[in-house]
Amino acid sequence: MRISQTLFSTLREEPADAEVRSHALMARAGFLEKLAAGIYIYGPLLWRVLRKIEQIVREEHDRAGCQELLLPALQPREIWEESGRWDRYVTDGILYHFQDGRGRDVCLGPTHEEVVTTFVKGRITSHKQMPVTLYQIQTKFRDEIRPRFGLMRGREFIMKDAYSFDVDQEAMAKSYETMREVYRRIFTRCGLRFTPVQADSGAIGGAGSEEFMVDAETGEDAIAISRETGYAANVEKAVTRIPAPPEPAEKVDMHKEPTPDAKTCTALQEQFPSLPLTRMLKTLLYKVTWTDRDATVAVMARGDRELNEVKLLNHLNALNVELADEKLVRQVTGAAVGFAGPIGLQDGVQLIADRSIEGVDGFLCGGNETDTHYLDVWFGRDLEQPPTFDFGLAQAGDSTEDGEGTIEITRGIEVGHIFQLGTKYSEAMNLRFQGEDGKQHVPFMGCYGIGVSRTAASAIEQNHDDKGMIWPIAIAPYHVVLIQMRSDDETQTALAQSMHDELTSGGVEVLWDDRKAGPGAKFKDADLVGIPLRVVIGRDAGDDKVEWQQRTGGETEVIASGEALERVRAAVAAVR
Ligand code: ATP
Ligand code: MG
Repeated sequence: MRISQTLFSTLREEPADAEVRSHALMARAGFLEKLAAGIYIYGPLLWRVLRKIEQIVREEHDRAGCQELLLPALQPREIWEESGRWDRYVTDGILYHFQDGRGRDVCLGPTHEEVVTTFVKGRITSHKQMPVTLYQIQTKFRDEIRPRFGLMRGREFIMKDAYSFDVDQEAMAKSYETMREVYRRIFTRCGLRFTPVQADSGAIGGAGSEEFMVDAETGEDAIAISRETGYAANVEKAVTRIPAPPEPAEKVDMHKEPTPDAKTCTALQEQFPSLPLTRMLKTLLYKVTWTDRDATVAVMARGDRELNEVKLLNHLNALNVELADEKLVRQVTGAAVGFAGPIGLQDGVQLIADRSIEGVDGFLCGGNETDTHYLDVWFGRDLEQPPTFDFGLAQAGDSTEDGEGTIEITRGIEVGHIFQLGTKYSEAMNLRFQGEDGKQHVPFMGCYGIGVSRTAASAIEQNHDDKGMIWPIAIAPYHVVLIQMRSDDETQTALAQSMHDELTSGGVEVLWDDRKAGPGAKFKDADLVGIPLRVVIGRDAGDDKVEWQQRTGGETEVIASGEALERVRAAVAAVR
């Protein structure tokens, strides 16, 4: 493709709202154009990348025996009522839903469990038809509260979603294992460095689930890993062994102390320097929402630990948990924010605790009175210990549960997520098949997602330098860029044309910079766009020689044009 025949143009300036490199670089290189928050036009170069990722996704699913179909994005409310998800998705605010011209409620699919289950109903009738896995590559719609980071978190984005149907749990686990391998192959072929991690199942539901994280500093997800044991989990899910509680304290009577303005553990430490954080118990107040009611829940934790709201939400089986606002805090504690405690909370407030409080006695806690805390509080003597659960957030330096490793916190971008759903949807939507025993059974399902557009962005998040993007060759918009130094030089044009034609006829994708621009601008643009291989056709064209360079760096070499063709072909063949 001759650049002069395309709408290629690059920008000197980055868009003001670009918070991550992938977004800034793609915008500058004209890969995408923002239409509205979280809604992007995929330009021709980006579309080539997306189609390549899709192709790898297709090949690997097909190789594993999955079948592609296409489900509608526009969906009636009824199927979401059948599965029981309408309310949660509406409350979460993630669902685009509206009434059509005849007053019927419809939504734009954020995911497709309901539709695919509807499709197989009546089609899967016997155990002999399973296992079966269906997949599609399609535009998804989610009204994200904070669309950001360009393609990373869009409101309209491309996802591959697959759904497996099996006769029982064991067979489901096998299909899941197959998909796990499919995912490994896909991300490896895309040229990405990634880590599969244990994950929370979220609103989708189900038992086991893993996320595939592209390793990147700028990733939105924090991951708890242990190099010694190979443990890897999203911090939302991670279970760790926390540092031991403090030694037992001297047993003195509980007493109230004035603590003016000491609303945080840090401030309290200044006032009570000899009291370790492990002996300060904090009490956080949450406004919790279920489908049919609201309530305030107080959650205690040790001063050196953070709470994990995902675990809390799952434990309460609620739609939403959020920290109480000032008004609610005043109402249930009678005090300003920062002084909540377990003693003397308003009636009806449920009190629970993270297991980090176990074994802690002689502690400090809020007094439910502005500028006041209790000291030397003992469970059993001064109040009953609230029931404890694991609401803890994994922290660097914790041990693995088995005590064999140390936890580090790294960051990643979630590009894929696989779930063992079990019978949640098949049961709710009344899916049945005749088993080997002649009786009716409910199929076990799995579901498997890949963010296709997010994968493109994460490739750049992982592979770039200060000059621009560096595409892994398997998903690059073109394999090679031919930079013709002077567009009015006939010898250069002839050589460029012949190399272009020869490579193209062999299936190599060539971007030919034949523009009138000066060499500086051409090199700058080539760096920005990040095509992995570069051949410069300049002064030595008359001797049939070209300059060879790779975007990842290394030396510039002057070689014969035939040798350059060989090198390009070999590099492309290596990823086919
Ligand atoms: P996140 O936690 O990032 O919001 P999710 O867990 O809600 O994502 P899934 O339901 O697991 O997402 O969707 C499958 C895949 O789709 C994700 O692993 C991710 O790669 C991609 N994805 C999800 N939401 C978006 C989005 N708003 N924009 C782009 N890709 C997305
Ligand atoms: Mg997910």
